[in-house]
Amino acid sequence: MSRINPRKELEGMIPYQVGESLEELKKRYGVAEFYKMSDNENPYGTSPLVKEAIQKYSSLVHLYPDGNSSLIVNALSEYHQQPVDRFVIGNGSDEVIRLIARAYINSGDEAVMADATFPRYQTNVLLEGGRAVTVPLKNGIHDLGAMQEAITESTKMVFVCNPNNPTGTITGKLELYKFIDSIPENILIIVDEAYAEYVTSIDYLETVQLIDKYPNLVVLRTFSKIYGLAGLRIGYGVMHPDIAAELKKAKDVFNVNHLAEMAAVAALSDQKFVSASAANNHSEREHLISELHSAGFAPLPSEANFLFVPLAKSQESIFEAFLKSGILVKMMSLPGFSLGMRVTIGQKEANEAFLRVINSFAIERVV
Ligand SMILES: *Cc1c(COP(=O)(O)O)cnc(C)c1O
Repeated sequence: MSRINPRKELEGMIPYQVGESLEELKKRYGVAEFYKMSDNENPYGTSPLVKEAIQKYSSLVHLYPDGNSSLIVNALSEYHQQPVDRFVIGNGSDEVIRLIARAYINSGDEAVMADATFPRYQTNVLLEGGRAVTVPLKNGIHDLGAMQEAITESTKMVFVCNPNNPTGTITGKLELYKFIDSIPENILIIVDEAYAEYVTSIDYLETVQLIDKYPNLVVLRTFSKIYGLAGLRIGYGVMHPDIAAELKKAKDVFNVNHLAEMAAVAALSDQKFVSASAANNHSEREHLISELHSAGFAPLPSEANFLFVPLAKSQESIFEAFLKSGILVKMMSLPGFSLGMRVTIGQKEANEAFLRVINSFAIERVV
């Protein structure tokens, strides 16, 4: 037992539960290959241009990367039609979340967020000595009215994950606009759009273009999801240059590696790959939702590349059935859902394998 006391903020904190390695699971279940449907990665991989870029720049790994990540900043500036000083590039957007908390949370400051959302918001706020004020989802959707009411003198920031991980739901366009408009200027509004490219609903508000009007707005995007670069670690935030300048003070100098940056430039340039991934995801999502309903399950309405399926306690054995069939999904219990699974929408073959297990658990419909 170490006799050195860690910071009090770490007391009682549990490290993020990283799943068992695929290699271990393969051995244990005697399965040659698993369908990984647990972490919302792109099942279609990444753009072929990314592989070319990585090969091309692999001869430069002995050099430090560009600490300003200028090439990807310029490419993003063009893509979003936003000035370069509005971008902060991170080692995944996870890092941008950490920088926001690092730069803005004083001890005792409050951060308002949904009770079932991306866990890194809460962890980083707590690490800096802040308080997470969690507001229950309403029917699996952010309750923006209640979040607005949760704002106090001590509120420093609010997080809206849109689409929300792990529920896949979005907030209405007008509702979100009114919410952003209602937040006082001294409170940061962080809208996490990690899954924006997957949304097909017309009732969805992309918020980057609102930064002109709302200098307290920070929009998060990532290359880990539809762009297929989860393993390289690169994401970004778009925000008022004054906020960007504060985050840059808190960041590590060489936070984004050169291969990740060049891969992201290549990935961003291949919007055909992005739209094909989104289109495939959309048709597979519709198919899975309709089959789940036919089998008596009630997935939440998802706009992302995953579904949240609430389960009854009595259905717990479904996880073992998935593993035996070589399918890895994410089991979770959330406030309001004592048991559920989050399943990443895969390629056709994976989805059919998933549905075979689902159908063996089909519930008699009560008419
Ligand atoms: C996956 C995810 C991220 C970030 O991922 P990075 O790999 O760190 O860029 C951020 N927010 C949400 C909601 C996510 O699901």
